[in-house]
Amino acid sequence: MIPVTSFKGRKVALFGLGGSGLATAEALVAGGAEVTAWDDNPDSVAKAAAAGVPTADLRTVEWSGFAAFVLSPGVPLTHPKPHWTVDLAHAAGVEIIGDVELFVRERRAHAPDCPFIAITGTNGKSTTTALIAHILRESGRDTQLGGNIGTAVLTLDPPKAGRFYVVECSSYQIDLAPTLNPTAGILLNLTPDHLDRHGTMQHYADIKERLVAGSDTAIVGVDDSFSALIADRVERAGTKTVRISRRHVLASGLYAEGSRILRAEGGSSSLFVDLDGIQTLRGGHNAQNAAAAIAACLAVGVSAAEIHAGLKSFPGLKHRMQPVGRKGSVVFVNDSKATNADAAAPALSSYDRIYWIAGGLPKEGGITTLAPFFPKIAKAYLIGEAAPAFAATLGDAVPFEISGTLEQAVAHAAADAGGDETGGSAVMLSPACASFDQYKNFEVRGDAFVGHVRAIEGVTMLI
Ligand code: ADP
Repeated sequence: MIPVTSFKGRKVALFGLGGSGLATAEALVAGGAEVTAWDDNPDSVAKAAAAGVPTADLRTVEWSGFAAFVLSPGVPLTHPKPHWTVDLAHAAGVEIIGDVELFVRERRAHAPDCPFIAITGTNGKSTTTALIAHILRESGRDTQLGGNIGTAVLTLDPPKAGRFYVVECSSYQIDLAPTLNPTAGILLNLTPDHLDRHGTMQHYADIKERLVAGSDTAIVGVDDSFSALIADRVERAGTKTVRISRRHVLASGLYAEGSRILRAEGGSSSLFVDLDGIQTLRGGHNAQNAAAAIAACLAVGVSAAEIHAGLKSFPGLKHRMQPVGRKGSVVFVNDSKATNADAAAPALSSYDRIYWIAGGLPKEGGITTLAPFFPKIAKAYLIGEAAPAFAATLGDAVPFEISGTLEQAVAHAAADAGGDETGGSAVMLSPACASFDQYKNFEVRGDAFVGHVRAIEGVTMLI
């Protein structure tokens, strides 16, 4: 845990005790703050009280004495409308911050030179964050990985010289971190997302921009127009800026041509690494993630040889295009996190011959947008409630069966792929659907897939 010392002896209000909220409250208490914590859920309040965190209904307390109000990133700050606690904080003139802000203040106070890499973007955050942490760890560096990826940042070990932090930041966390100042900050890409919580695309982009604007080195994917403008602005403001692209040749920065990542400087470019053969980094989207990770590692002093070694041994993230098993030339891929058609597209684009397991609880629009990938699909195995609708979309374009269950789908797909003379095919769960009709969540669905793959005779597990 990182005890938050910056509010020692001062009063702090906190709302939101689920997720990272309780860990944040405990870190404040450990650092000597006088915390008053609350949540709409009485169970969360009881749990916090049992953990030694003082609680009180924030409607009933005097706000003028609070030095800060710490808000959980899941609670609306601005859109669709400010949470009632936000209104109370504004009325009392109390600054509103989140756990990432508390972390950056601790780092500044105790180990301002310890390298801190922050990652944001609409897509690819977790992959890039995990990849950077993997490269650093493999090179023997003391590495702390946390933030939006699932480990609350204040549960990490405290900042000290030589310790590296790799922190995934959602836009909500950036919104609550006014002095965010990473050594290297990555903005991967910007596409419309969470606009219910940010109002407009411009507002969403403005928040994301703050992460790179505050960085010593700003690393920006310039393949979308919002991010490209941000790179120009940040550079004009005097920040060292490294551009990343998977679509364009750059005069300066890191760009991908297929699986090859090139590094351009002073008008000339040279091959930095070829990702070909690295199963966990297949596809153009992963070339973008890898290029950003490389730029960040270079910015904090990792050598090219160390980066190459880390890229090659990256195990990938669970449930995201994760190669989990192999039988002969057939690879089994768990992409259970793809809960809508957009999310399934990168996986479908990354393999040439696919035995595709899809379906679950359907989302609006179904799989019509995936039609460009249909020629690569050897056969589809449809499961769950979406099966009839997906069957109708596939029509005559793709052979399919209604497997019903994941177990049947895996067994049939494995048998068909095993008899495929062309070789080099993938049996892939990339459902383009939520899981709730058959599973508790996408993780449980992915784990079930892995279990069924494990049961196939003669399979070699890769995890
Ligand atoms: P995030 O943490 O931003 O949600 P993840 O790394 O968990 O992103 O990846 C989730 C999914 O998003 C992946 O399975 C893939 O389909 C897609 N994805 C990953 N990286 C990118 C990228 N750079 N651009 C577009 N889509 C991506």
